Amino acid sequence: MSREKLICRAAILLSYYFISGMATTNILRLLKGSTHRVNAWECRCASCGGRINVLMQQPIFSYLVFRGRCRYCGAPIPKSTLALELTVFAGMSLITLLLGFSWLGVLLSFAFFELVRAVLLLRCGHREEHFVSQYIAAVAVVLLCLLIVEFEALLLQSV
Ligand SMILES: [Zn+2]
Repeated sequence: MSREKLICRAAILLSYYFISGMATTNILRLLKGSTHRVNAWECRCASCGGRINVLMQQPIFSYLVFRGRCRYCGAPIPKSTLALELTVFAGMSLITLLLGFSWLGVLLSFAFFELVRAVLLLRCGHREEHFVSQYIAAVAVVLLCLLIVEFEALLLQSV
């Protein structure tokens, strides 16, 4: 395999890694009890209000490094956060790998992301405040990500 193909494939998988991190705001903030805006960058610890910086927001990696606890107050971060990040990253990567990094594989991996969101919304219920507008914002972000990753997949076919 050429170097260019490898770089394109790595870029697609790296995109999924960041999307798995985004899932914790894009999906969890739509669920019952949440009042945070889906697209607000700032994340704070639910216990002490400490600001969660960029390093601490890295999916999977941060959970393992900080042993599933807030760096400031030591409050446990729900295991469901890690489970969601792993599910999204592994699921999207696997579908794309199985379909040979084709544009269809990318499209289906995003369908999987939407399926995860639908299942969680059905199981946990949706937020009471501004659900419709926040849902539209969440879908818009995912569509933008889809366009970026499809562009990477098309680039991969041409190298
Ligand atoms: Zn804390």
